[in-house]
Order: sequence, then structure tokens, then C-alpha cells
Amino acid sequence: MSHVFGRGGADAPVVARARGCRIWDTGGRSYLDASGGAIVVGVGHGVAAVADAVAAQARQVAYAHGTVFRSAVVEEYADALAPLLPVDDPRVYPVSGGSEAVETVLKMARAYHLARGEDRHVVVARDGAYHGSTRGALDISGRAGLRAPYLPWLGQAQRVPGPYEYRCPFPDRHPGGCAAAHADALAAVCARTPVAAFVAEPVAGAALGACVPPEEYWPRIAQVCRRYGVLLVADEVMTGFGRTGAWFGLEHWGVRADLLAAGKGAGSGYWPLGLAVASGRVHAALAEGGFTHGFTYSHHVVGAAAGLAVLRELRDRDLVAASAARGAALAARLGEAVGGHRYVGDVRGRGLLVGVEFVADRRTAAPFPRAARVAERVVAAARGAGVLVYPGTGCADGTDGDLIVLGPPLCVTDDELTEIVAGVAAALATLD
Ligand code: PMP
Repeated sequence: MSHVFGRGGADAPVVARARGCRIWDTGGRSYLDASGGAIVVGVGHGVAAVADAVAAQARQVAYAHGTVFRSAVVEEYADALAPLLPVDDPRVYPVSGGSEAVETVLKMARAYHLARGEDRHVVVARDGAYHGSTRGALDISGRAGLRAPYLPWLGQAQRVPGPYEYRCPFPDRHPGGCAAAHADALAAVCARTPVAAFVAEPVAGAALGACVPPEEYWPRIAQVCRRYGVLLVADEVMTGFGRTGAWFGLEHWGVRADLLAAGKGAGSGYWPLGLAVASGRVHAALAEGGFTHGFTYSHHVVGAAAGLAVLRELRDRDLVAASAARGAALAARLGEAVGGHRYVGDVRGRGLLVGVEFVADRRTAAPFPRAARVAERVVAAARGAGVLVYPGTGCADGTDGDLIVLGPPLCVTDDELTEIVAGVAAALATLD
């Protein structure tokens, strides 16, 4: 009997070692990690330079409290990040993961408006979205099933539809197109209530199967935010650090965020690292109005050393461009191999964040009943074929659905892409 609470069941394999895109269990079996864990491992497993940076920093000084000491490595990390972030004059608040980053930017949004004398507290997020497991992050998440056990403790946020071209939430075409309809939906909420922040992923992540918005979506959303004085909060926990083929997802649309949350690829699995980022304008208001916040492990020196080493790997190995090229190849090859399968409704994505959505009927796009557990079955069958993929059990409109997401380390090779596609095809064949 194990005393560990939560996570892998008793029959889960025991992990032994990992290198590149591959993980081995203690039985000697190898798996191709086509999801980088939970879309975490950007630079690949077993990178000695990152592990060494972590060890060297821990040997030198592993912990010093951020209220007492400044630290050169944390400052160097924030300075190295600054030119890469889609945020003007960014100020970086390092934390321990994505949920902490989301909690932090939500509090920053509230504090910003209070500092300016405005009592705005409503946050608008999107149907189906996932922003984390902690109270505030779950509250704004659009997955009703995850919030349900905690109502009425949660449930304060308001929601608008997210872009979902496969099942467009605005089937009666808006004269200005789909992006205009999304912008109008947000504007309608802002017109009737004082909204503090709009929170969304640039490319809707794993929970929603890598939904890419239409070209005009982000510029129009940014316009609405500006018009109503609403802070634009980018959740780049999954899309950051090269995952979508740009350093950060918003870059694809040339849009800047007021606040940004990152995690996952920041530490690439080598350290639990998250980042809450405020623009210079937001930071100035917080500096004046006050911002009471802090975690024991925020501004962690080893986290900063890991983050710096990850940045170096991404840069020196040109992994962001690799993500764009390999991601396009993966989506195209998957489309060829399984796009015509009778249960595949849609293959989509940007960079190395690729989703495959399953439907019971391709003609009507009708989903399977959730009880059929199609996503879980595909994930299990792919694992049987030696390929690890990430399941999604909801659609981008918040309803139940079945999908898998692929997000291998950005160093994935061409041969490994072939293996991934073969693994997914083999898994799908078991559904027939
Ligand atoms: N936001 C997004 C978009 C995520 O994908 C996740 C994690 N899946 C989170 C927030 C929460 O991050 P963490 O699990 O590191 O707390």
C-alpha cells in the first residue's frame, strides 16, 4: 500500500528515467512522450545543462527569502524574459506553477482597479476554459463539471463563448464575421457590468484541443478591452515558451497583454516554475496603491536558474522555430493518417500543440456519450502502442466531448513524429 494521495493508480508503471522525447519505466519499457507530460517538457527530458544549472544554484544557495534579499539570478532571469514577453515594459513575479500564476494575476487585476479608485471585481473568461485547480483559477475556468462539487463557494466569474471553428458558437453569421461576434459578446458583458479583466488562452489549450482563433479574434478582443478599461489577461501557461511556434501565443496576432500567466514550459519540468507578469502601467498602479501578496517559494533562486537554463536551450537549439515547423508537419501528417477516420471530427493546432477531436458522427459532428470514455480509450490504446498522448474530455464550448492533445518536447525529431502518428493511428484502429 502506498501512502501517496492522488495521481497514478496502483497499476500505473513506475517511472525510471527519461531522455529527449522518451521515458522508460522500471520494467524497461519505453514510451514516446508525445505530450511532454501535461504539455510541460519543452526542451526535452534529461538535458544535462538544465539539470546542472539547478544543481549548481542549489549548491551555491538554494533558498533565501525574497523579502530580505534581492538575487542576481532572479533579476537576470526577469531581464532575459522581458524582450520575449508580449507585454509592454513587463515586470515578472516568479511563482511555483500555472495556478499560482493565474491566482496572482487575478489579484493584480483587482488591485490595479482599486488603486485607480474603481471597485471592479468581475472577471470574464471563456466557456470550456481551464485555468487551474486552485480556488480563483477554478472559479474562472469554464468547465462546469470541475466547479460543480465546490458550488456555491465558486461560481463568481462570467463567461463568453470561445472561438471554436469546428462547432461555431455563432452559426448565424455576424455581418462582421465570427471574430466580430466574439468581440460583441464580450462588449455586451462589459456594457452591463464593470469588468476588471478578461482572461483567455491565446490558443485554447489541452482541455479544448488546441482551438486556434480566427485571424481577427485577438485584435478585436483587445479593442473591446481598451474601450471598456478591462485588463487583457493572457493565460500562456500552456502556450508560452515556444509551444505554438512563437515565444508566446499572443505574438501570432501582434496583441499585447496587460497581465500574463505562464508556467509549464518555463521550467520545462526541471523545476516547478510559474510566472505572473504585469505591464509597466499595471505595475505602476500597484506600486502606488499597494499589492499585498507572496508565497514562501516565490522568486525562488533555483527556479530562476532553471528558467534561465531553459531559455538558453530554447534559444541555442532554435527550438521555437522547430516547434513551428515540426508542428505544421505533425498536423499535416496526422490529418493524412487519421483525418479521414470515421470517428475523427477535426485535427487542428498551432506549432507543437495539436488536437484531434472525436465524434460519433462526422456528418452531424455529434459527440459520443461521455460514458463511452472514447478519449480515455484512445489514450490507453496509444500508451499500449508506446505513445503517450494527453486526453481532453470537454469541447471548447464547455460541453462534454472527446479529444486528445499532442505536445511533444520541441526537440521532437522527424522519425519521432512518424512514430507518434503511427501510435495515434494504431490507437484509433482499436475503436473500430
Ligand atoms: N492554465 C492553463 C491554460 C493550463 O493548461 C494549466 C494546467 N493545465 C493551468 C493554468 C494550471 O497550471 P498548473 O497545473 O501548473 O497549476
